[in-house]
Amino acid sequence: MKEILCIICPNGCRMTVNDSGSVSGNFCGRGAEFVKAEITRPMRTLTTTIKTVFPSTPMLSVRTVREIPKANIPDVMRFLNSLTINEKLGVGDIVVENVLGLNSNVIATSALLTS
Ligand code: SF4
Repeated sequence: MKEILCIICPNGCRMTVNDSGSVSGNFCGRGAEFVKAEITRPMRTLTTTIKTVFPSTPMLSVRTVREIPKANIPDVMRFLNSLTINEKLGVGDIVVENVLGLNSNVIATSALLTS
């Protein structure tokens, strides 16, 4: 038996999954789907920051548009930490296309409005 906290919505249901894969403790079906994904291939949206060349905004907040495999997050973080943004960007602008071939773009979640 394994305990898994559902992070899909603020209810935060504490679910248990037994050895046969039966799930309990979830208030809705999304929780059961989350458990199955957690056991087989956990996915996460990554939110982080990337450094810039602009002293007034030295770090730009970004996130992946789609969830990426949790196992790939350290590699993506290493890659994003190696970047330096040198152009003005608006909210939603693509910072990295198809990051590390994981089928998700990285977009700005704040604006870089330096003059
Ligand atoms: S099981 Fe449903 S209600 Fe409970 S946290 Fe997950 S999504 Fe929310």
